[in-house]
Amino acid sequence: MRLVLVGPPGAGKGTQAEALAEHFGVPHISSGELLRRHVASGTALGREVTGYLDRGELAPDDLVITVVDEALAGAGSGYVLDGFPRTRSQAEKADTRRGGELADAVVFLDLPDDVARHRLAQRLAGRSDDRDRAVIERRLRTFHDETDPVVDYYRDRGKLVTVDAAQPPGAVTAAILAALAGRRPG
Ligand code: ADP
Repeated sequence: MRLVLVGPPGAGKGTQAEALAEHFGVPHISSGELLRRHVASGTALGREVTGYLDRGELAPDDLVITVVDEALAGAGSGYVLDGFPRTRSQAEKADTRRGGELADAVVFLDLPDDVARHRLAQRLAGRSDDRDRAVIERRLRTFHDETDPVVDYYRDRGKLVTVDAAQPPGAVTAAILAALAGRRPG
């Protein structure tokens, strides 16, 4: 099972990706987590992306694609990918390179902006990009500007499963699994 999770900051991508990866017995790959790891370990790539993460802007495609491709290469035939693709150009590039087969299904964790704001204000993960209100607003704006088109892209290709992410985490996981079971095979 190859799954991609798309959703605004605060939608619970990381939490759901963990649960789904465990359910399907596949690795969880988070583009944001991979980038934060590069920053934390002070690699050249980490030094290049750190400013983007701090400002809540998207990191350049080539750098993100480098780290995601490396992780996918080590993942084998199944994975849960969270945070990528995040722009239409990332989606197109990924599909071109993988023959249209980056994902069997794309889960859209749908969440109103006001709920996302509230959750991010409460989040205790200690991430620097969660501490600043202006950075949170920029991430939400970037989501709508850049990632809404990714949702449309996969809807047009019949791959999209939309789930109400305002429910408690267990209910969201159950809704995703039910929706995925309903669309199989294909
Ligand atoms: P959130 O969805 O809460 O913003 P993520 O961990 O998915 O959290 O992303 C954190 C940051 O990492 C983003 O604001 C962005 O700077 C960078 N990032 C993650 N994935 C991508 C991507 N696919 N393309 C560009 N930048 C990315």
